[in-house]
Amino acid sequence: MQILDGKLVAQAVKNELKLKTDTLKAQGKKTPHLAAVLVGNNGASETYVASKVKTCAEIGYHSTLIRFEATVDEQVLLQKIQELNDDDDIDGILVQLPLPKQISEEKVINTISAQKDVDGFHPANIGKMIQGQPAYIPATPYGILLLLEHYKIETKGKHAVVIGRSNIVGRPISILLSQNTATGNCTVTLCHSHTRNLKEICLQADIIVAALGKPEFLTADMVKDGVVVIDVGITRVEDKTKKKGYAIKGDVQYDTVAPKCSYITPVPGGVGAMTIAALMQNTYLAATQKQ
Ligand code: NAD
Repeated sequence: MQILDGKLVAQAVKNELKLKTDTLKAQGKKTPHLAAVLVGNNGASETYVASKVKTCAEIGYHSTLIRFEATVDEQVLLQKIQELNDDDDIDGILVQLPLPKQISEEKVINTISAQKDVDGFHPANIGKMIQGQPAYIPATPYGILLLLEHYKIETKGKHAVVIGRSNIVGRPISILLSQNTATGNCTVTLCHSHTRNLKEICLQADIIVAALGKPEFLTADMVKDGVVVIDVGITRVEDKTKKKGYAIKGDVQYDTVAPKCSYITPVPGGVGAMTIAALMQNTYLAATQKQ
């Protein structure tokens, strides 16, 4: 069993981006600039956004954090996004999800300019991605592809089972794994909360992407020997022995599943780290495509 070390691969991606950013600066070109919008003070969202802002600084990008109270009016938020769209110095915009109930995520996503949509959630980017055209690929699926590529994991002809069909993880990764690319050409089964015989389907999988948000859902009796397991899940589970009062759990029961795997991602240190690296890659692309 080999661990797919997201931390290590993410660091390599970030190092390369830092070198490329240093070159941009030396050539007098524009420094990539990411705007992050955070609404409310959800603990996990605070952590994600802080980590994205910190990574920008490590690479040498500019970043701007814009915060709103959880009670913010939808129009005010949309107006701010429009301002960021119109601001030539901003290359990429991300609005941290989830958003409070009074705000339509759909309207927010649709308002972000497709050219600055470094999260890859805008329908124009999703549409292009489905057709195999150049597009911003959603950061988590993109991070998974970078990980598969780094470890040279053969995907061609393999049966990939994706658990979860969200617009940000499950559905896009199911499409990407099915495409005629170096990290694609899988036969993909997309499972969700209404799937019958999930265990039998998982037992047929060469590759499993678990993205359902249920801690330790995938157990050893659900996987065959030699499987590649990508654990996307991140759930805070109360743990009084930890200083923070919680532990982070993936969707895979790591201790029992790992011994059966050829490769597996840990949580933390797997897909989460890669998601940020992929976002940084998209931001670089957004900045340089403009020039
Ligand atoms: P979501 O809640 O939007 O979607 C969950 C999906 O799982 C749904 O499609 C649902 O049908 C399916 N599902 C739920 N219960 C199921 C069951 N018993 N059997 C089969 N399918 C089931 O979730 P999401 O936004 O895609 O996130 C999934 C998990 O990934 C969460 O833990 C989230 O925190 C994590 N996540 C991690 C990263 C990262 O960077 N590592 C990024 C995004 C999300």
